[in-house]
Amino acid sequence: MEGQLALADRMKLIKPSPTLAVNAKAKAMKAAGADILNFSVGEPDFDTPAHVCAAGKKAIDEGFTRYTAVPGIPELREAIAARYAADRGWQYEADQVQVCCGGKHGLYNMAQALFGPGDEVLIPTPYWVSYPPIVLLAGATPVFVPLDENENFDLTAENLSRCVTDRTRGIILNSPSNPTGAIFSARALAKVAQMALERGWVVISDDIYDTIVYEDVQLPHILNIEPKIKDQTIILNGVSKSFAMTGWRIGYSLGPRHVIAAMNKIQSQSTSNPASISQKAALAAVVGPQDFPGMMKQSFLPRRAFIVSQLTAIEGISCVNPSGAFYVFPNFSAYYGKKFKGKVITGSVDMSEYLLEESFLATVPGAAFGADEFVRFSFATSMDAIEEGMKRLREALGKLA
Ligand SMILES: *Cc1c(COP(=O)(O)O)cnc(C)c1O
Repeated sequence: MEGQLALADRMKLIKPSPTLAVNAKAKAMKAAGADILNFSVGEPDFDTPAHVCAAGKKAIDEGFTRYTAVPGIPELREAIAARYAADRGWQYEADQVQVCCGGKHGLYNMAQALFGPGDEVLIPTPYWVSYPPIVLLAGATPVFVPLDENENFDLTAENLSRCVTDRTRGIILNSPSNPTGAIFSARALAKVAQMALERGWVVISDDIYDTIVYEDVQLPHILNIEPKIKDQTIILNGVSKSFAMTGWRIGYSLGPRHVIAAMNKIQSQSTSNPASISQKAALAAVVGPQDFPGMMKQSFLPRRAFIVSQLTAIEGISCVNPSGAFYVFPNFSAYYGKKFKGKVITGSVDMSEYLLEESFLATVPGAAFGADEFVRFSFATSMDAIEEGMKRLREALGKLA
């Protein structure tokens, strides 16, 4: 009988991803005929490049459909290491690279390999939705380091120091960030590196948006700022965002050999290798022309400018101009406490629900990212949708009293 079997205690630790939940509700409303404008999606609105798809098809036609080496085919691991050497000047051997089933899976393997009960992991907040549950599933404790909108969501030494204890084992950096689009300054990263070196922390650098940066300056990276930190750093990345390959499920991680070996052990006893076909497609992405992310960025630029100007023109809303990725994270808190048809909007969940139900706008409540004042809008959608969406947003907010 359904509902009778007891679940493991760890199921009390986690909820399903709220970003996927909003997306599911919006899709259901759309299927029922509602004219939904979807700003909740966390993926590029581009198709995977043709040469990458062709490599996947070729892999099928050639019968490349069996198990591969657990950490990924050697040519892909070598190609990833070669790309980092060429683009960044960082030296990694193929056995310091793990290919896995998406960036999220890399994070999971890393947490299982490195963290356990009693360990505290620093998570700058607003954070990506999956960081706390993945840390919790490893038995460790997430510790939230507040980032201030007025500091452009940069990490400050004061906030960092306040969260450190004897149990701190590491920190998860995400720059550019999902959901804020902010990048960490060189000064903030230097501080993290200094503390990590002094205290033996592991630095997790989730670089999934590192090809989508709007600033003219080079993206500050902790490995450039303090090269000594490389032996304590795990780089998480993948092709999901940079090559519009979210459905292919290929991520990769780079780090110290013994950590990658431990992550391979976890992977060998859970998923085994990532899909053979997807690995061939990812290989084409990594060794082929690198103009695709830049092309996406060019098309995001006017959308970013437009959505930020529209949002900041609305009374009471503030919005940091994102330096990278394809999200804006406006502050809606001036509207909390207001009412529509007698119902009070108490926070970001109510606000997102109100926008979905009244205006058919799908967004993600900031509460999902540990920041209830905000609502996330993805601008990886058409300019027409953004124009119409901002019009509906103004109308919806105008109805609140
Ligand atoms: C999308 C994303 C990832 C990786 O997603 P996958 O689909 O698992 O490759 C990792 N980190 C952040 C912050 C993301 O937004």
